[in-house]
Amino acid sequence: MTSLDFKKINIQAYKPGRSILKKKKNAIKLSANESALGVSPKVLKLLKSRNYKVYKYPDSSAKDLRKVISLNFKCKSNQIICGSGSDEIIQMICQLFIKPGDEVVVPQYSFLMYRVYSSIVGAKVVFSKENNFKVSIADIIKKVSKKTKIVFIANPNNPTGTYLEKKELIDLRKKLNKKILLVVDDAYDEYMNDNKYSSGLEIFKNKKNVFVLRTFSKIYGLASLRIGWGYGDKKIIDALNIIKPPFNVNQIAQLCAIESLKDKKFITKSIKHNLFWSKKIKNDLEKFKIFCNKISANFLLLNFNKCKLSANTIEKKLLKKGIILRETKTYGIKNCLRLTIGNNQENKLFLKSMEQIF
Ligand SMILES: *Cc1c(COP(=O)(O)O)cnc(C)c1O
Repeated sequence: MTSLDFKKINIQAYKPGRSILKKKKNAIKLSANESALGVSPKVLKLLKSRNYKVYKYPDSSAKDLRKVISLNFKCKSNQIICGSGSDEIIQMICQLFIKPGDEVVVPQYSFLMYRVYSSIVGAKVVFSKENNFKVSIADIIKKVSKKTKIVFIANPNNPTGTYLEKKELIDLRKKLNKKILLVVDDAYDEYMNDNKYSSGLEIFKNKKNVFVLRTFSKIYGLASLRIGWGYGDKKIIDALNIIKPPFNVNQIAQLCAIESLKDKKFITKSIKHNLFWSKKIKNDLEKFKIFCNKISANFLLLNFNKCKLSANTIEKKLLKKGIILRETKTYGIKNCLRLTIGNNQENKLFLKSMEQIF
């Protein structure tokens, strides 16, 4: 008998939040941090009006999109790389920097893809402790060794919703060995409303040892099209372009991303909507003794430790009503649920359902 030999990858596959319910056709999905208001009308119009040449390969280098990004974010287009979601860029960064036996440091409760892609290329994943679900710079520094190649930070972090302030991020970069790459994932930057916070892109635009991740999946509402981008030193970008699959971002995604950047009104409206509802939901849940993080991104981490019902019970009761929240056990967080801010109707239904349950 022959048996094929392949890598044994000692990590669990990423398990997305539940997205459909067998018995409910119109389930409300508040489990994946997608855009509450859908997508810009400009993007919808484009999708309907154009006769896409799907038989042609897309522009491999996403030149037009990179140009528009560089104008919008005041950064250099030859330091941008586009990916099939920022996910793919995390994967490419891991491929480029890590060889078996290297180490990466990720905060204990951080976004799962950092550990998944790092493990696949043979890195040892070292977890830094957090204080009250917030990244500890001191513990990251403690966990760094001679083998550390990358430190990953999502800011704000998914699923905790906590974030490092501008001065803390600068402090982290200062304290880290220069030879370690700091990856700052800005996935939720647009939602932020705290003047002590700055995006990784703003702070580190000209740093050679910081790589910034951005996505069109969240506020821009293009999650299904799979498109994100990375920004870093030209040398890193050039090397990533060798790793990058040639046609990784499809033509429709590139065009819609360009269109989505033109609609500032939609973004402003989304930010306002998010702020209004996250405040209201956070407040309303306190009467059930459910507490959550200071408002940051388009989701809240609901903590049930002081509540008479457990996260598990609430998750099940909401599912029966057709409302899906994200469990957090896969992140190692007990007795919590992650709630994405939905549209008006979804949020009202969620709050009404909570009233009924209690
Ligand atoms: C949602 C999310 C992303 C985006 O992933 P895409 O692959 O671009 O859809 C990246 N980082 C974090 C922390 C996220 O929560």
